[in-house]
Amino acid sequence: MSDITIMGYAAMSMGQTLKPFTYEPPKLGEHDVRVSVTHCGLCYTDIHGIENYYGVVTFPFVPGHEIVGYISEVGKAPFGLKVGDRVGIGWQGRSCGYCEWCMRGEDQLCLDIVDSGTWVPYGGFSSSVVVDSRFAYLLPDSMPSEVAAVLMCGGISVYSPLQMYAKQNLRKIGIIGIGGLGHLAIQFAHALDYDVTVISTSSGKKGEAFAFGADHFIVSDDRATLRQLEFNFDLLLCTAHGNIHWEPLLEILKKRGKIVMVGFPDITFNSTDLIAHELSMTGSFLGNRATMKEMLSFAQEHGIKPRIELMPMSEINDAIEKVKQNKARYRIVLVNDKI
Ligand SMILES: [Zn+2]
Ligand SMILES: [Zn+2]
Repeated sequence: MSDITIMGYAAMSMGQTLKPFTYEPPKLGEHDVRVSVTHCGLCYTDIHGIENYYGVVTFPFVPGHEIVGYISEVGKAPFGLKVGDRVGIGWQGRSCGYCEWCMRGEDQLCLDIVDSGTWVPYGGFSSSVVVDSRFAYLLPDSMPSEVAAVLMCGGISVYSPLQMYAKQNLRKIGIIGIGGLGHLAIQFAHALDYDVTVISTSSGKKGEAFAFGADHFIVSDDRATLRQLEFNFDLLLCTAHGNIHWEPLLEILKKRGKIVMVGFPDITFNSTDLIAHELSMTGSFLGNRATMKEMLSFAQEHGIKPRIELMPMSEINDAIEKVKQNKARYRIVLVNDKI
């Protein structure tokens, strides 16, 4: 595919299946790079985006935010990158650089992120994307592209809070959900020396949870076991989405325990325990650029690897269906077969 038109897969309106979509390539800004996409992971937030769950998506919408490819063109003044470099890109493709959060190095909280914080003009289920070179991460040579792709969202989303709370000496963690995010969270938490309990809706993933590094495993509707674990956990990391029965989970947190969301679950619960036990509930969103670089090195050093199924990008709608039916084990990465 030439650079004259770009081919992507777009939802033309909310909730639609993706269709081939061509568009003119955007011009490069001074610090931008154009990246020819070779691989792009499929994350549940792509599906949420197509469904406009977050209320910020405009259509046509080309999802895809676990991007790996090669730099094909650079603007006048790229930061430390050149044509031919292999890079990874996540949800964030730029930031304003001068708001209070950017000034603190917390670019993922940039006040301008919704309007102008992603790639231009579309996501990674495309022949190419344009980003600010500061948000394209040079990859270690020995890291396979499909592994790097998944780390760009799944990896950073779980590593960022796990490394932060590890420094606060929170040690007993419950990881809720063992899907795309959860199976990485178990590996990172184990490598960060947490005592890891996996809480899953099904006992079918028990063996794999232990293989990923879990120390304990609980089925979430096993109320008898949960009751025995009352006031046991410093921290719960929720990697799941959809409906969750929260009250039995809040009961296993220590007083002043913390629950951190990285998936996008629905939240409705009786607030008694939250108040009476002084619990905190918070979110964690991606990670800053320094943490992204640290995460790539940490994953490499500790042999942390997502479990991946490769599929051709032209079969994207089949891949989405598989993820929706919870049949992906554990992450699908699409290989660009049309460029
Ligand atoms: Zn994602
Ligand atoms: Zn900013």
